[in-house]
Amino acid sequence: MSITAKSVWNNCLEFIKDNIQPQAYKTWFEPITAVKLSDNALSIQVPSKFFYEWLEEHYVKILKVSLTKELGEKAKLVYIIKMENTYGNKQPFTERIPSTNRSAVKSQDVDIPLNNKNPELRNPFVIPGIRNVKIESQLNPNYSFENFLEGDSNRLARSAGLAVAAKPGGTSFNPLLIFGGVGLGKTHLAHAIGVDIKDKYPEKTVLYISAEKFTQQYIDSVKKNNRNDFIHFYQIIDVLIIDDVQFLSGKTGTQDVFFHIFNHLHQNGKQVILTSDKAPVDMQDIEQRLLSRFKWGLSAELQTPDFETRVSILKNKLYRDGVEMEEDIIEYVAKHIKTNVRELEGAIISLIAQSSFNKKEITIDLARIIVEKFVKNTKREVSIDYIQKVVSDYFQMDVDTLQSKTRKRHIVQARQLAMFFAKKFTKASLASIGSQIGKRDHATVLHACKTVDNLSSTDKQFRKYVEDLTKKLSV
Ligand code: ADP
Ligand code: MG
Repeated sequence: MSITAKSVWNNCLEFIKDNIQPQAYKTWFEPITAVKLSDNALSIQVPSKFFYEWLEEHYVKILKVSLTKELGEKAKLVYIIKMENTYGNKQPFTERIPSTNRSAVKSQDVDIPLNNKNPELRNPFVIPGIRNVKIESQLNPNYSFENFLEGDSNRLARSAGLAVAAKPGGTSFNPLLIFGGVGLGKTHLAHAIGVDIKDKYPEKTVLYISAEKFTQQYIDSVKKNNRNDFIHFYQIIDVLIIDDVQFLSGKTGTQDVFFHIFNHLHQNGKQVILTSDKAPVDMQDIEQRLLSRFKWGLSAELQTPDFETRVSILKNKLYRDGVEMEEDIIEYVAKHIKTNVRELEGAIISLIAQSSFNKKEITIDLARIIVEKFVKNTKREVSIDYIQKVVSDYFQMDVDTLQSKTRKRHIVQARQLAMFFAKKFTKASLASIGSQIGKRDHATVLHACKTVDNLSSTDKQFRKYVEDLTKKLSV
């Protein structure tokens, strides 16, 4: 029988398979292909630099043993890295790494053009000397389990959270994915788990981060050419909490890097907690392999709370703020604001504020007026003023700026979006919309609507603006 790269590699694989966890085998060895065999050197192709580093760090011994068994003491292993980001290139660009003498197996003997021999000393995300530096968890201690009132709507998610907090990485709820609509407590619950873990296991590294910030860090790391440092930073975390993963939609680069980080953490029994405004089945533009990972653990939904839960959330809030309020007023608010806990709290806060500013007693009449405002804003037709306010808030500018004559691109875009939504959500004429949004004429409004239509079909970021704003305006 002739010896080929494939046959040698298959024998190695058999040996390796017998000696490591099935999950590890699947993740780290199945994606490898044997490419070439010459003399004593076997060339294998790995999917990324990261993959290569991982193999070097964790499996170098077993690789050496298996290869020596096949090819004798002089066996060498050559990695070929299939470069990332070769989308569209028919011929994948490959990078060859000088052969390594496996009889002197030590990572630092590998003479390779990779720059990351001492990753923990070159991490830009924390001060050098990572092992001695505490990573700030970014947790909000006010978002505790104690303050997260239980009800039918959140019982599953809450108990799963408690189980995870008791044994991070040690339950089958890994990852734990908490999903549900806006203002239903995803962020709060995610923090609560982290806070509780920090409390029980102070030595564990816990990190809370929004998917948006994670994406930004990743993009920066690519710009600064230290993607590996970014990855290494995340790989030393014991409990990683990523909020609003739906934000990763369509961001293939970030998804890819998150996939690697996820695999690493999961592999090592580290806990991953995710939140999303959608169930995994409804997530769009998220890679299949990532979605399938999301489903490995538990997906728990936060639903809209029932009346009793709304009442207890309100009472708890009042108690913490040291405010007394009559039972029937609390019930009135809880009865009329149903779909969003944040709004429920908002109504109570304005009620307290109104009464103290105006030195009025908190009465059911005052409650009625305030609740009406909340319900009005959300249910009835929105006004053009309201649209301008929401759009300027979203872009963190004030309404005057939005209406100004400037040609600055981001302000023009905000103005056009306001016009577009005014057309979409009100019955006002083009002329009337124009006159209310910075005294423009009807042709300008028409042009704005067309531009928004065009941009939202060609520009992903812009489409996101439209989606976000639509959500905000139709709550
Ligand atoms: P999401 O991330 O789902 O949009 P948040 O976690 O930001 O929602 O929650 C919105 C507000 O509602 C927060 O102030 C949070 O403390 C509060 N909240 C949500 N659910 C509960 C609950 N079960 N008990 C107490 N407060 C809650
Ligand atoms: Mg949130």
